Amino acid sequence: MKTFDFRHAESVDDAVNAATHGATYFAGGTNLFDLMKTGVEQPSALIDLRRLAMTSITTTDGGGAFIEAGVTNSAMANHSLIRRHYPVVSHAILSGATTQLRNMATAGGNVLQRTRCPYFMQNAFSECNKRKPGSGCAAINGFHREHAIFGASEHCVAVHPSDMAVALAMLDAVVHVQNTTGRRHIPIGQFFALPGQTPEIDNTLQPHDLIVGIELPPSGFSDHCWYLKVRDRHSYAFALVSVAAGLHIEGGEITGAALALGGVAAKPWRLYEAESSLIGQRPDAHAFHAAAAIAMADAQPLTQNAFKVDLGRHSIVRALTLAAVDRGTDSSV
Ligand code: SF4
Repeated sequence: MKTFDFRHAESVDDAVNAATHGATYFAGGTNLFDLMKTGVEQPSALIDLRRLAMTSITTTDGGGAFIEAGVTNSAMANHSLIRRHYPVVSHAILSGATTQLRNMATAGGNVLQRTRCPYFMQNAFSECNKRKPGSGCAAINGFHREHAIFGASEHCVAVHPSDMAVALAMLDAVVHVQNTTGRRHIPIGQFFALPGQTPEIDNTLQPHDLIVGIELPPSGFSDHCWYLKVRDRHSYAFALVSVAAGLHIEGGEITGAALALGGVAAKPWRLYEAESSLIGQRPDAHAFHAAAAIAMADAQPLTQNAFKVDLGRHSIVRALTLAAVDRGTDSSV
């Protein structure tokens, strides 16, 4: 393995300063270490963020929640504020990885994890535009059963692996970042990048940006939400398709809806047209099937993953059906 320097950051400013001198941010390391072991990532220095005490979850002045970037996935999923007001986030997190990984992985790192496309994860494969720009995409003519059906390009068809990010996208979360010029906010819908001509770029962070927290808006669809994950085995597997669904229901009518898909694109895929179709409808099978048909109408599957279109349609109906069940203040996950 290539050697590298390692030290703990004394403050956020110290961490950002270290990044400007070439260091890579390190928190849980659950994805970064995998990539370092295979040589995909070869940092010359790591700046460890774990002593910065960015580990709290608080209520915001506007009635939402702010999750500091160093909160572990386990702590976030099990926090009373998240369980009560954002159960879809708890569901999503607990459906991913393993207990051991969730105990190490952080909120900030979760949204930064790289695709698990097998051609990206191994340096032995010569073609991967995301890992080695201009080298080609081995997946397009190779194994792509688990790859994208929305938003892909001729240069990359990978999907984003995060479950948590799908719930964050459904909730219109906001990512807070800091660099040498100060802090700024990035709506989650503008955070992830589609591959286009530059598949090596996963998100809209600028060089040296450090994620310091994630803000959730007041409305968590807490009474009517669901995260459904469909995968090849029941645990420790990435989604073939996942759905984060939230509904507001008043007087037997849908007054608000939010839907996002995972496992289908390089970013969590919001379904705005399908959401609009639900407004004013009764929360029944007719409305859910119609929304699901709209949601999947523009899918562009590859030869091995056309099954994701039907799977997505059925998963949307199932997630909406489960979300429509009135759970009141039940925070169980
Ligand atoms: Fe690389 Fe993307 Fe192609 Fe996978 S799909 S081989 S990550 S360029």
